[in-house]
Amino acid sequence: MKLNRLRNWALGLIFLAFIVMYIGVFVPVLMPYLLVLGMIMILISVFIYFRVGAMSMSIPTLECPHCQKKTKVLGVEDGCMYCQGLIKVEMDESDGLYLVPRTK
Ligand SMILES: [Zn+2]
Repeated sequence: MKLNRLRNWALGLIFLAFIVMYIGVFVPVLMPYLLVLGMIMILISVFIYFRVGAMSMSIPTLECPHCQKKTKVLGVEDGCMYCQGLIKVEMDESDGLYLVPRTK
């Protein structure tokens, strides 16, 4: 769930960057600054995308105890990507990871 939020955030940043650069078209004085600002924002969101991609590769997919779907968990405590249910990662004796519902 955290991964999804991060990805949405990066997407929003790209849109914001386009808006900033679009404003530059109407305000020629600020054009160079707005273009640079927009470029920086796009670079940041591309970087976030790469990070999210790399992270979701290394994160094991585990079965959600609420909806039985395979979900990716960031950190020890997170929410399910599908049902938003709170979950906690537990480790058994053989280092196998599994999810349990988190009560809060
Ligand atoms: Zn779920």
